[in-house]
Amino acid sequence: MGQQAEAKWWSKDTVAVVTGANKGIGFEIVRQLAKEGITVVLTARDATRGAEAIESLKKQGFQNVNFHTLDVGSQESIDALAEWLRTTYGGIDILINNAGILDDSNGVNLEIAKSVLATNYFAVKNVTKTLLPLLRDDTPGGARVIVVASRLGQLKGLPNKDYVTTLSDREHITEDFVDSFVNKYLEDVANGNHNKGDWPDLTKLGWEAPVETYAVSKIAVIAYVSALHNTLVARHEGEKKINVFSSCPGHVRTDLAPNGIKTVEEGADTPVWLALHSPKEGLGKLYGERTILDF
Ligand code: NAP
Repeated sequence: MGQQAEAKWWSKDTVAVVTGANKGIGFEIVRQLAKEGITVVLTARDATRGAEAIESLKKQGFQNVNFHTLDVGSQESIDALAEWLRTTYGGIDILINNAGILDDSNGVNLEIAKSVLATNYFAVKNVTKTLLPLLRDDTPGGARVIVVASRLGQLKGLPNKDYVTTLSDREHITEDFVDSFVNKYLEDVANGNHNKGDWPDLTKLGWEAPVETYAVSKIAVIAYVSALHNTLVARHEGEKKINVFSSCPGHVRTDLAPNGIKTVEEGADTPVWLALHSPKEGLGKLYGERTILDF
């Protein structure tokens, strides 16, 4: 944030959209943004769970929250949200891609790998691409896109050094390369080659649960954020400014991580801070505890 006091640029006319926000970290991100007086669109794939979440926020005194369904895995659902946002607000200032799943409970298999990568990687791209045109030109300091990633996506967990070299080359990484990385993983899972030394074996880093597919999905979104930043700089320098960041919330106690040690308030802190303060030195990078982390 720097030493100088920063002007508060946001108001009730600022519009933020949060995915997977009926519970956990996403719900808390909505609450913290609403507390700032921002108009927040809480989205959830299940209308009943979404309505209950809105009800609970209204009971806490927040009237500046609104609901729309969004299943991030359905392009039809993403398009419907985009159309509703266009007619309701004209545009948005902040997008927080938070929805995510962790399902490696039965080890790695193709069905689970496809579903985890569909939600944690391909859906993040689809939601972002579809909502990008709605991000406003005149958001002070630039509109913001935040992706909730994870330290499990840091490259120290990836044994294949060729991948590490290309993925860590922030300035040249492309979306096509990240797609090919993810598709190769899926191909290796399909052929039974995923445990031959190329892909994360997090048990070697002290993780008890076999969370390889989840780690691949988070590596991919962190790299995607860098690639998107590069694309936006190349395409829109001087025109439309959009700041993108990835963020690890830490090990947070939620349904996804029942043994987590942080509270949701702590977990939501950095994504919310990035959305509000958009630190220029960190564009396209991974943050945790309001600090740039190694990828
Ligand atoms: P959570 O409590 O399980 O919440 C996940 C949210 O994502 C739920 O609202 C869930 O909706 C939603 N979701 C899943 N699939 C969806 C879909 N297809 N469309 C729309 N929404 C969908 O987990 P959490 O811990 O808050 O996780 C939030 C994010 O933080 C995830 O991206 C996760 O990977 C990341 N993260 C968490 C931790 C941690 O320690 N908790 C650490 C690092 C990163 P339903 O209720 O309908 O299932």
